[in-house]
Amino acid sequence: MFGVVGVVDASNFVALGLHALQHRGQEAGGIVSHDAVAGFNSARRFGYVRDNFTKASLMETLPGPLAIGHVRYSTAGSKGAAIRDVQPFFGEFSMGGAAIAHNGNITNANSLRRELIERGSIFQSGSDSECIIHLMARSLQRNIPERMEDALRRVEGAFSIVAMTRTKLIGVRDPLGVRPLVLGKIGDGWALSSETCALDIIGAEYVREIKPGEMVVITEKGIESHYPFRLQESRFCIFEHVYFSRPDSIIGGQSVYETRRQIGVELARENPVDADLVCPVPDSGTPAAIGFAHESGIPFGMGIVRNQYMGRTFIEPTEQIRNMGVRLKLNVNRALIKGKRVILVDDSVVRGTTSRKIKQMILDAGAAEVHFRIASPPTAWPCFYGVDTPQRDKLLAATMSEDEMCEHLSVDSLKFISLDGLYRAVGEAKGRNNSCPQYCDACFSGEYPVAPSDMIQKGFEVKAAE
Ligand code: SF4
Repeated sequence: MFGVVGVVDASNFVALGLHALQHRGQEAGGIVSHDAVAGFNSARRFGYVRDNFTKASLMETLPGPLAIGHVRYSTAGSKGAAIRDVQPFFGEFSMGGAAIAHNGNITNANSLRRELIERGSIFQSGSDSECIIHLMARSLQRNIPERMEDALRRVEGAFSIVAMTRTKLIGVRDPLGVRPLVLGKIGDGWALSSETCALDIIGAEYVREIKPGEMVVITEKGIESHYPFRLQESRFCIFEHVYFSRPDSIIGGQSVYETRRQIGVELARENPVDADLVCPVPDSGTPAAIGFAHESGIPFGMGIVRNQYMGRTFIEPTEQIRNMGVRLKLNVNRALIKGKRVILVDDSVVRGTTSRKIKQMILDAGAAEVHFRIASPPTAWPCFYGVDTPQRDKLLAATMSEDEMCEHLSVDSLKFISLDGLYRAVGEAKGRNNSCPQYCDACFSGEYPVAPSDMIQKGFEVKAAE
């Protein structure tokens, strides 16, 4: 998500910001802008930002000094979106229009949706985020920020929000601060972004993170800060450090790249192995592999090369091409691999299908041994807060021990960083070993900081608190 206020042709800045955030969603993108003469305008398109929001003919339809945008990443159960599911969503209220972009996942969306439909709301999309617009429509508060506060008090789960009215840019984070949101300054204007890397691309200066439970309302006069929710300890998603965020972003004052490198150091300390080459599974495994190689003294090499032009939206026209699977994205550097005992460093093992294919590619290239080292603990629980993980029975670590997974993948060894090791790495990157903030680590520990009430109603069993 990205939003800008107080600059000429804000939508161009939003398009650049969304381009920098493309790793957070590749399925589709949308921008809403407001101009005093043209009013609200919006555009939603499937595919990459660069293929849509670079065309002058489209950008000219989005004038004004205020704009917000969103790139879509569909989570489990929301696949196969229609264009009406693409954010930002827009609602016309008695006091004027408002557009909303949401990052995260509302864990009581099904119950809210049922209740709202029974009370007469007509939904336009299948998205959980649309509940917020309908809750706002039912609020009796006098202005849009207050209606949004009202609405969000009914919402459970993870939400970072960038919204706009005719004159205001609004940013909100849920009380636990599960998903990120940062504030930047550009000239006389302001920007809100999911990550700092998108501030860099438009030349904005990073100001600070929006705090967990904080709502900022930005107008020409400046910024107002509100705390509409009951204050709680922050539970930021630890997987943002491992995988989701871009390595050139800063989270909580620390570099994502440096944290990932430190995870590799910790992984090497916990799980040493005699080998000839440390090789990342690109791209998110790369900084951890650099840290692993540095700590172990084993040479680092790019034994796997990624095709940078292969996106998730690649159309696989024939069965034959679909069967090539992972080879469309990754290729082995045979000259480097042949005859070597290779350590492959990857960010996670989810279903295990990609890991098996990569192992086979490395063996086919003549590797003598293959050892997997994983930069996160075993993913044994699904995420209900906006990261796409499959149901529990599809997660390899939910049904197998580490040794069984090793056998299943047919590798010489398989080891994961421990949860303590991950916390040490995240803390050590900033030199604060003993005072790590408490993160959300539910996909590794099964301890969900917000009960996923819709899923519990469907029979999902949450681990009892110890
Ligand atoms: S469950 Fe995992 S991926 Fe989801 S928010 Fe928590 S740490 Fe992040």
